[in-house]
Amino acid sequence: MYNILIVKYGEIGVKGKNRYIFENKLIKNVKNILKPIGKFNVYKEYGRIYVDLDGYDYEEIVEEVRKVFGIVGVCPAVRAEKDYNLLKELALKMLEEKIDQGYKSFKVDSRRGDKDFKLTSQEMSLDIGGYLVSQVKDKIAVDVRNPEVKIHCELRQNHVMVYSDTIPGYGGLPLGTNGRAMSLLSGGIDSPVASWMVAKRGMELECIHFHSYPFTSEKSQEKVRDLAQILSKYCGRVRLHKVNMLEIQKAIGLNCKDEEMTIISRRFMMRIAQQVAESRHCDALVTGESIGQVASQTIQGLTCTNASVSMPVFRPLIAMDKTEIIDIAQKIGTFETSILPEEDCCTVFSPKKPVTKPKLDRIERSENALDVEKLIQDAIDNIEVEDIEF
Ligand code: ATP
Ligand code: MG
Repeated sequence: MYNILIVKYGEIGVKGKNRYIFENKLIKNVKNILKPIGKFNVYKEYGRIYVDLDGYDYEEIVEEVRKVFGIVGVCPAVRAEKDYNLLKELALKMLEEKIDQGYKSFKVDSRRGDKDFKLTSQEMSLDIGGYLVSQVKDKIAVDVRNPEVKIHCELRQNHVMVYSDTIPGYGGLPLGTNGRAMSLLSGGIDSPVASWMVAKRGMELECIHFHSYPFTSEKSQEKVRDLAQILSKYCGRVRLHKVNMLEIQKAIGLNCKDEEMTIISRRFMMRIAQQVAESRHCDALVTGESIGQVASQTIQGLTCTNASVSMPVFRPLIAMDKTEIIDIAQKIGTFETSILPEEDCCTVFSPKKPVTKPKLDRIERSENALDVEKLIQDAIDNIEVEDIEF
């Protein structure tokens, strides 16, 4: 029945000139996400975005389109030539489908886009509602206050349109409307969620992963690649920078206190991430840190990590509980991959008793035993880069 999708987007803060940028980006991103399926007509009309379904199964297309950031909902609709009686018939067909699905109450919501039409929107709703009731009798009741379903009927300049369901999107802002971020992506649950959340606000994403090959396996790198690939479904192509931390970790192990291993490694990761971010024109770093989650994420730990870089560090999970983070991971499809039991470079070298209240001056003093600049440069010189697409 459906032949078109109506794409609804949040309009707050997108007035005036920004609105065009926002809408055009959104159209481009919808086209992009549908590219693997086919070439779709995506266009703007009457201050809305439409996707012609061209005979494709609507469910499959909705499932893709709703992943585009900036979209708050997608409505499968029927559009036909401008004919008021046809509009009533289409509304009836849709209502009958809703009755079959078990709904018990409805109302008609109308819109008159053609101001020359003889009925006002309200009159249209009354007229169409009356017609529907006369046809379906008592199979469903009218409830104008709190209906279980709404049948939206529109009479436009050149056509009529009927729709009912809205499949929710994720909201946010279109990708590419808010600069670029470099996300520190481990194989865990948190960092993919943090990356996704920042991308949802319109930031393009690059990822950086630290491993200790051959102490960590190739499998663990594949896991991170898989996570980046899931993210790329939402974020478009993701560039993954893979950094071997082994020499750095060996140097820390030889020259610093065992309990400071994690926090000092983390500071190296941040510094390397910042240098790579700058070279890639990224405006911020992203981590999956959350207050108090592990020893290195106490407020003192976070302070020491934060002090290693000057670039803004976004930590979208900072005040979230693990259960809330897991909910999002499940929703966006990263959870199953994140829980695969692959080792991480931090766990391989993790001290038995990490410091929980590191002091910055002490950590900095410990780092004096290391040739920080050289260790960083060597790691950067050996970075491997991969572009990941869905
Ligand atoms: P996650 O579930 O994201 O692995 P976590 O709870 O295990 O997080 P930590 O291991 O303390 O927490 O890491 C905190 C953050 O530091 C991660 O969310 C990630 O952003 C970054 N990070 C940690 N290990 C790595 C790594 N091997 N490569 C890239 N980033 C890392
Ligand atoms: Mg981790």
